[in-house]
Amino acid sequence: ASSSDPYDVVVVGGGPGGYVAAIKAAQLGLKTACIEKRGSLGGTCLNVGCIPSKAMLNNSHIYHQTQHDLKRRGIDVSGVSLNLPTMLKAKEDAVTGLTKGIEYLFKANKVDYIKGSGSFVSPTRIGVQLLDGGETEVEAKNFIIATGSEVAPFPGGGIQIDEKQIVSSTGALDLQEVPKKMVVIGGGVIGLELGSVWSRLGAEVTVVEFLGAIGGVGIDEEVAKQFQKILSKQGIKFKLNTKVLSADKEGGKVLIKTESAKGGKEETLDADVVLVSVGRRPYTEGLNIEAAGVELDNRGRIIIDDQFNTSAKHIKCIGDVTFGPMLAHKAEEEGIAAVEYVKHGHGHVNYAAIPSVVYTHPEVAWVGKTEQELKADGVKYVIGKFPFTANSRAKTNLDMEGFVKFITEKETDKILGVHIIGPNAGEMISEAVLAIEYGASSEDIARTTHAHPTLSEAFKEAAMAASSKPIHM
Ligand code: FAD
Ligand code: NAD
Repeated sequence: ASSSDPYDVVVVGGGPGGYVAAIKAAQLGLKTACIEKRGSLGGTCLNVGCIPSKAMLNNSHIYHQTQHDLKRRGIDVSGVSLNLPTMLKAKEDAVTGLTKGIEYLFKANKVDYIKGSGSFVSPTRIGVQLLDGGETEVEAKNFIIATGSEVAPFPGGGIQIDEKQIVSSTGALDLQEVPKKMVVIGGGVIGLELGSVWSRLGAEVTVVEFLGAIGGVGIDEEVAKQFQKILSKQGIKFKLNTKVLSADKEGGKVLIKTESAKGGKEETLDADVVLVSVGRRPYTEGLNIEAAGVELDNRGRIIIDDQFNTSAKHIKCIGDVTFGPMLAHKAEEEGIAAVEYVKHGHGHVNYAAIPSVVYTHPEVAWVGKTEQELKADGVKYVIGKFPFTANSRAKTNLDMEGFVKFITEKETDKILGVHIIGPNAGEMISEAVLAIEYGASSEDIARTTHAHPTLSEAFKEAAMAASSKPIHM
């Protein structure tokens, strides 16, 4: 193809959905460009999401463990202190290293990286306001929209985010001082991960959650209860069934008005920093999708069919800006499948096998159905549970909070869901995802050799508990 030919695929947005789609398209021999306006690749996930939060989670855990957990392991250290600027720098270095890595992958795979903001001018042409000034316009046979999501503002406009004292996740990843008191509005994934970070670094953290349980959408109720117990023991306070009404700055503090979710009973909390983590919403600002004939639903999501086609068939859409869980790996899988549709006319994402992980300590991870969902659907199921207190490696590591819970179909033993709270749950869940992908039964797992001594023996024993009996309990 000559440089003046239209592109086969133009991807709008360079997050995990968009950059993966662009690389895959180029690998399949399609002439590909990716438009990204942020000035760096990797989207929310690499710049202000998954990666910086995991850098802070990992290093705050090491700090906390050094202070509170080393003595009983026979390691005496003294003079432990926090150097927050260095911890923040380590986070920045992780982000820069990985975002630059994607730029390298674009070059290696011959993806044209167009730095600027894309706006459709017609169904086949998109204008780009270039970051370094000027404009350009590109034509493509196919587009993939992957413009992601943004922080959902507090409903009703009662709280203004300034990213210093009243912060979203973005500000919470870059606080220059440990707040004495922090109030987290919303006990979902962001609230618990970033609440953990600042609690470990010394803040007094209170999480206010509207619902009666923490952990956000899709968490198993039993896991959520255990999770709350463990985090409470770590020092995080919870106010459940409590609705935040407003947060106002006053005399260097923030005053947060709450009321009981059922109405009545008002209370005012004070904090040095407030984290607003009540969800994210799809982002299509400035994209001018009307010019392309692409439609949104009433929640601002781009409407797609089961082959990622928007209302304009040559324009596909993936990731946070459309339906489904807002997760980086879900966006990536969709990126690959959408490109395969363009190239081959078929592609596949198994939405029944998308794992969720909360990267606290211990981690919480799950895939498939929860017990409450199965109950509601009237499905007959079996539970197999195994605690980490009975796992040799967890005991040896002095890290044994939590359990593995299998849920299988009563009649067939097919695995319907796996829920883990415990050390390394986020790595272990991949085995459950694979099992569900392959339609495995719990007996299949129970009869598979797992190395000793490993945490994943708890996974095997939970499968044994579901299909027959565990040995070590
Ligand atoms: P995004 O990553 O949002 O990327 C979209 C990109 O499109 C952006 O870079 C934006 O600048 C660009 N863009 C938008 N409009 C235009 C335009 N008109 N022209 C050009 N460019 C445009 N998920 C996980 O799976 N694991 C985690 O551990 C995790 N941690 C998270 C922690 C935090 C604090 C947050 C906020 C999110 C986290 N997520 C995590 C969610 C994850 O970041 C998102 O699901 C993921 O980034 C979605 O990918 P995407 O490609 O759809 O969109
Ligand atoms: P979330 O939907 O997970 O949680 C928001 C919580 O806020 C809910 O529990 C909700 O009940 C509560 N809430 C809403 N309004 C409230 C009010 N007025 N008062 C009190 N509580 C209120 O959203 P999030 O934590 O902001 O995360 C956004 C997205 O980012 C999620 O979809 C998540 O998938 C993604 N994310 C993923 C990870 C990960 O995979 N580890 C990490 C961070 C973010």
